Amino acid sequence: MKIYNFSAGPAHLPDTVLDATKKAVIEYRGTGMSVMEMSHRSEPIVDLFHKTTSRVRTLLDVPSDYHVLWLQGGASMQFSMVPMNLLSKRSTADYIETGAWSTKAITECNRVATANVIASSKEEIFNYIPKEYNQNIESKYLHITSNNTIYGTQYKVFPKPRNTDGYLVVDMSSDIFSRSINVSDFGLIYAGAQKNMGPAGVTLVIVRDDLVINELDHLPTMMRYDTHVKKDSMFNTPPVLSVFVVNETLKWIADQGGVVSIENSNKIMSDKLYTEIERNTLFRSPVAIEDRSTMNVAFVFNDRSMDDNEFLQFCDARGLKTLKGHRSVGGFRASIYNAMPIEGVDALIKAMQDYEDR
Ligand SMILES: *Cc1c(COP(=O)(O)O)cnc(C)c1O
Repeated sequence: MKIYNFSAGPAHLPDTVLDATKKAVIEYRGTGMSVMEMSHRSEPIVDLFHKTTSRVRTLLDVPSDYHVLWLQGGASMQFSMVPMNLLSKRSTADYIETGAWSTKAITECNRVATANVIASSKEEIFNYIPKEYNQNIESKYLHITSNNTIYGTQYKVFPKPRNTDGYLVVDMSSDIFSRSINVSDFGLIYAGAQKNMGPAGVTLVIVRDDLVINELDHLPTMMRYDTHVKKDSMFNTPPVLSVFVVNETLKWIADQGGVVSIENSNKIMSDKLYTEIERNTLFRSPVAIEDRSTMNVAFVFNDRSMDDNEFLQFCDARGLKTLKGHRSVGGFRASIYNAMPIEGVDALIKAMQDYEDR
């Protein structure tokens, strides 16, 4: 039976990526060694990092005054590194709270500086993206989460920074490479790899050159962006295997026609699923129509007294795995990242229809 993994992360990877990884784990590029056994200073691995970085630059059309970094510690580490590097103790930044990940970013900012929460959809269990707010004139940046993995909301239009010296910082962990973006709209972009571009263990940071400060002697060396810029993301031993898998995934994205065609197929898949949720008498979406994510499709029973577990087991028996919604929302969540084939979405829609007919 074909298995479709709807997990929110770590998530499904393309078969070609898994095949290439299987080979590289045994032997890498005729060296007689596993990719995991090779020094990060060796020519093949330095070359791997350069190739992966240049794929990011090509796929997202990254301007030359931006650095591409491969760091560890996940997006969660960026919740701290961003304010540590971009703010001083007395400075402030604006944050829009659109879910649990934004809340964590706010908490970490408040440890080192001041986060102004200028809008929040917490009262409505984060089922929409707030669009009315005033940015503070003294704030250095505005932080947003582009896709809210848990609640299934997504920015369709990004906010504008308050003026020419303000800038946006965005957590794109769950929708990076799923749609075309204009990198120059942001000062800093970060994303853990494990949702849409690879396995856990590596985090992509794209940061504008003028935001990489060299006089941060009070910070631990590893926490400074300039450390990693100067050493090409090899200040310490980097997660080579994770970067290998990211490189293969980016290759796969390019083979699909790049980010624009990925965006189109994601739109087709998510539209299909939302259409069925609307049509099906059993289910509804808890999310505001204009903010519905193309990546994480949340849905619940119309009649909340129905047993979620029964439907989950029904799906599981058909090979449709990890559809349980996050505990804070309940119901179901189908994460249909780039690597999900349309057949997976069709199989889920069929299961929803068969469940309705039963
Ligand atoms: C998963 C996720 C995170 C956390 O990423 P880690 O790599 O586990 O730190 C942060 N933000 C968003 C939007 C996520 O989806």
